[in-house]
Amino acid sequence: MLNKKTVDDIQAKGRRVLVRCDFNVPLKNGEITDETRIVAALPTINKLIAEGARVILCSHLGKVKNGPNEGESLAPVAKRLSEKLGKEIVFVSDYNVTGEAATKAVEAMKDGDVVLLQNTRFRGSEETKNGEQFSKELADLADDYVCDAFGSSHRAHASVEGVTKFITAKGGTNAVGYLMQKEIDFLGNAVENPVRPFVAILGGAKVADKLNVISNLLEKCDTLIIGGGMAYTFLKAQGKGIGESLVDDSKLDYCREMMDKAKKLGKTLLLPIDTTIAASFPDPIDGPIEISVVDSDKIPADKQGLDIGPKTAELFAGAVKSAKTVVWNGPMGVFENPTLAAGTIAVAKALAETEATTIIGGGDSAAAVNQLGFGDKMSHISTGGGASLEFLEGKVLPGVAAADDK
Ligand code: AMP
Repeated sequence: MLNKKTVDDIQAKGRRVLVRCDFNVPLKNGEITDETRIVAALPTINKLIAEGARVILCSHLGKVKNGPNEGESLAPVAKRLSEKLGKEIVFVSDYNVTGEAATKAVEAMKDGDVVLLQNTRFRGSEETKNGEQFSKELADLADDYVCDAFGSSHRAHASVEGVTKFITAKGGTNAVGYLMQKEIDFLGNAVENPVRPFVAILGGAKVADKLNVISNLLEKCDTLIIGGGMAYTFLKAQGKGIGESLVDDSKLDYCREMMDKAKKLGKTLLLPIDTTIAASFPDPIDGPIEISVVDSDKIPADKQGLDIGPKTAELFAGAVKSAKTVVWNGPMGVFENPTLAAGTIAVAKALAETEATTIIGGGDSAAAVNQLGFGDKMSHISTGGGASLEFLEGKVLPGVAAADDK
């Protein structure tokens, strides 16, 4: 159980409550193409409005590599959010985020009003030492603080962590929001208290990105399934020829260690037994490609594995069928290409059909599940790719740690 103060612990009436949301939504030509993160933020915002708080929202959007710009302004979010809330909100478009414009907007607020600040990364100081000043300026606007940005909670940034000590200094409360609570409940229960059998599925491109996740999940789960590009380093570590498949030679020893660890702990580690191969990586990624299927120990020297094969899909789906808890992070192949999406679809389908608790780590696997139309069949789809991975690694998330204990 999460032993942190939540939005329910704030006496919200008349208080200025700063809420860090994750409004980092995908945009195309200024239009929001996926509003999941906005929708996910609504329960906390609506609760605070209903209680009569003065709700000050902030978030980052995009990477903001070249300084503040209209393309990464939160203006489209303000518009969509206002529609979703069914009420006017005030958007402070000032690139300075805090300062005179923000202060004036907050001073004009009445109970139940909502103000959205500009993209926090426009300050360019979220993660540097200057973040200290920005943190203080954010805290100056508010009485209490709620972190509901699960997708950013693995970053010790000004608007996620820095702000909390200034809120504490002025006697305010730091809490987590409903989305954070939900994410942590699902991911935390799955990892720390799973109904067994617990099957974890990892895929995606690189072993190196998931070293600690593999190690931690091996200790917690009953069966660990590895597919996607990262599987080939494991296959090579077993002495198999993998042709031109994606490989990280510096991680061969690590893969052997993990296979030994699985054996010692009595855990099942499943790797692809057959592989969909092609002469080269598709270019463009969703372009036509000629494929064939071979057993995983028969990949020709001049070919590369780009998806799990049908026998593997059946093997993995079988493991999912007998599970009571499933956590999945990372596609089984180059799912962006329809010819190479079969393995990812088969796993998504197996998850959609099971009665087990199914949890999808964010990022590509969430996109794949939604794209394939299985979104509403999953118990929980995390809104945070990096954050859910760090959670699965067993790391403490700064955005959670910074909230006041109950
Ligand atoms: P990640 O960001 O680590 O979750 O990796 C996701 C990416 O891995 C997707 O863009 C996939 O196209 C890619 N991927 C999956 N399987 C393979 C593979 N066998 N070879 C190369 N890339 C792959």
